[in-house]
Amino acid sequence: ITAIELTEAYISVIDAANDRLNAYIKVTPDLARVMAKNSDERIAAGKAGDLEGIPLGIKDLFATVGVHTQACSHILDGFEPRYESTVTQNLWDDGAVMLGKLNMDEFAMGSSNETSYYGPVINPWRAAGSNQQLVPGGSSGGSAAAVAAHLCAGATATDTGGSIRQPAAFTGTVGIKPTYGRCSRWGTVAFASSLDQAGPIARDVRDAAILLKSMASVDAKDTTSVDLPVPDYEAALGQSLNGMKIGIPNEYRVDGMPDEIETLWRQGIAWLKDAGAEIVDISLPHTKYALPAYYIVAPAEASSNLARYDGVRYGLRVDGRDIVDMYEKTRAAGFGKEVKRRIMIGTYVLSAGYYDAYYIRAQKVRTLIKRDFELAFDAGVDAILTPATPSSAFGVADENLAADPVKMYLNDIFTVTVNMAGLPGIAVPAGLDHKGLPLGLQLIGKPFDEETLFKTAHVIE
Ligand code: GLN
Repeated sequence: ITAIELTEAYISVIDAANDRLNAYIKVTPDLARVMAKNSDERIAAGKAGDLEGIPLGIKDLFATVGVHTQACSHILDGFEPRYESTVTQNLWDDGAVMLGKLNMDEFAMGSSNETSYYGPVINPWRAAGSNQQLVPGGSSGGSAAAVAAHLCAGATATDTGGSIRQPAAFTGTVGIKPTYGRCSRWGTVAFASSLDQAGPIARDVRDAAILLKSMASVDAKDTTSVDLPVPDYEAALGQSLNGMKIGIPNEYRVDGMPDEIETLWRQGIAWLKDAGAEIVDISLPHTKYALPAYYIVAPAEASSNLARYDGVRYGLRVDGRDIVDMYEKTRAAGFGKEVKRRIMIGTYVLSAGYYDAYYIRAQKVRTLIKRDFELAFDAGVDAILTPATPSSAFGVADENLAADPVKMYLNDIFTVTVNMAGLPGIAVPAGLDHKGLPLGLQLIGKPFDEETLFKTAHVIE
């Protein structure tokens, strides 16, 4: 098959299914055809890159030259970057083909893809015997749904508190959030800069390994990117787990978690044991503070990052009597409800009177969470196994969740700790629940040890 044939095949699937799933907010068939043609020429010349001719979907958070980049927010209407994000540039340099921009929660704030200005993404999965539409998770819901329904071969995604891993778990796909610093953040619209990381969502562990190798790089334009060699992750697959220690944190047995998640977790433990790993109980005592601390740190950073959307530099402008009135009107019209909520929380916790009580305290908690993991790894644990999410995919426009944003935030209970500590985490499909919906397990690793996660996840998938 040629790159152009492969690309045409994906374009036809997108044409047939995207109206129903709303996974892409913009399809770029003309650009894809040009890129695929170039791929075929490079293949013919014997100069194929690692991803030559592979059609990918790009989360709308990544800046793409000349192609609308809006973070699925009204406030970035009409914004066409003149620069390319480092992560997507790395993919194109390896020969990948861009199919278009994928739907997401507005500015990556959400767990259901329902905060997008472009409306919700529909999960391609249905519960057995039911026609109810389900969410794909968020914020990388478009990426996960597109991969699950073959609307691309793989997708870029980002994860600030779980946005790669939770949607992967909800759609039966594989998603890895690498160690903070593994991928450059340059050209990726910022949500919470100390937590944001890019990573792939893919159909299996091997594809995720190949994609991450291409996406990762040190980059002079992001000083938090790390100058370490990027290993050949694919080579780790199939290696034995003999001599490995897998930690099981007691604190992840949360109240109200369905029995079948607990059963799945036990099943995962059994598989890893069979593959030669030793299983040890560990304690991560500050886990229960991770979610509240995250919902201080992330909005604080967001309120500062989003200050730049002022109607002057990018996207939408609503005229006003004077400049302040213009700012206010633009931001009132341009941001959605969840984004405004985060800006208000963030501004509050950073304000002079509350800074010490909230922000500084949350940063201290963050250090304790990080230390919990360090102690476990120092004691010889190689990776930690937990459920990826406390439930399977839920319904679109769930009334309970709409009425109470904190309930929505609880989706991140198993994933935010990993971002707070800057560690790598992978979600891998591990089975189906009683409704026939996918469930995922999560593996958490040592800093820059994504190889161990790939090798261990490969045993589970
Ligand atoms: N659901 C979390 C939030 O809304 C995480 C989002 C993300 O990882 N981008 O903040």
